Amino acid sequence: MATPYLPGYGTASLSDFATSLFATFGGARPNTLELEPAPRVCLFLVDGMGADLLREHPETAPFLSAAFGRTLTAGFPSSTPTSLATLGTGGTPGEHGMIGIKMAVPGERRLFNCLRWTAPGLPIDPDIWQPAETVFQRLIGLDVAPVYVATGAFDGTGLTRAVYRGVHHLHAETVEDRIEGVRHALRSPRTFVTVYFSDLDGAGHLRGWGSPEWLAQLAVADRMAERLAEVLPPGTTMYVTADHGMINATDKVDLDDYPGLLEGIELIGGEPRARHLYTEPGAASAVLDTWRETFADRAWVVSREEAVQSGWYGESVRKEWLPRVGDVVAVPFAGTVLIPAAAEPHEWSMIGYHGSLTPAELNIPLLEIHR
Ligand SMILES: [Zn+2]
Repeated sequence: MATPYLPGYGTASLSDFATSLFATFGGARPNTLELEPAPRVCLFLVDGMGADLLREHPETAPFLSAAFGRTLTAGFPSSTPTSLATLGTGGTPGEHGMIGIKMAVPGERRLFNCLRWTAPGLPIDPDIWQPAETVFQRLIGLDVAPVYVATGAFDGTGLTRAVYRGVHHLHAETVEDRIEGVRHALRSPRTFVTVYFSDLDGAGHLRGWGSPEWLAQLAVADRMAERLAEVLPPGTTMYVTADHGMINATDKVDLDDYPGLLEGIELIGGEPRARHLYTEPGAASAVLDTWRETFADRAWVVSREEAVQSGWYGESVRKEWLPRVGDVVAVPFAGTVLIPAAAEPHEWSMIGYHGSLTPAELNIPLLEIHR
């Protein structure tokens, strides 16, 4: 059986990048990645651009491929809200607690979707769900202007408030607008601008990574990186990285087809490549056994304690966040996805997925361009 590929927490993960970058501005954190200080930094975040995926397509992404530096890893799960919280706080998933797209709200027997920031009938306060002070808030204290250039649709959403607290949000809908937004933001003498591109991940989910649609978006991201590099004023460093990679599903499991599997389960959370199973009182070990047996060759199925002790979420998980981890955690490998199709028709319709502990999903590039 395959073994999980673990995030490089403490040496080469996204949290090490966030803390190292913070250190270059004078923040009191270790500069583990030994990044070079610069008064102005532009971070180009390409959603879903896994390092292994990029390496497969140098002809489509000549600029990014030529600048390819080192490989980092996302945290677990390898998905957007988790990685954005890591970049935003510098913490591991176990520290910031954003450990899945859908998490159980403790004591409420209901799921909270942190991507959409919805929990039926429950208001979830971003400051309480993710209370850590962000890197951006701390940068303001160091006289650095934190700016986020992205679509206005993200401004004020729960997820943005949880992970980008403190940024000045510049609304930019098109690639041109975003380049202009970055150029504008980099006029400040000390600034940290994050610019975000989501369409590669979107095309990958819909059509699969490597598809013509995905390749077209990779070419857009490549050209955007090249254009961004052209507008950097002297004394600026640009980093290009991603929040996770992706796999194309070859084995879609509709959990509704296995009534025996759902016995003893109160809520199915997480995402198709990293499931949190919240069980009824006393049912955890039976659920663990059933799922282990059913998915012996297709998923790592572990108890909450095992997931935490194996370091999947970092060195430790804050006590308050433990109930967010499923009583049982099921993480498929190879091309398997686990989806209750009736409850998640959108997820069921996809081709590309991410979230698991595989190199294709965890490995992300870190490119550095100095001006
Ligand atoms: Zn995605």
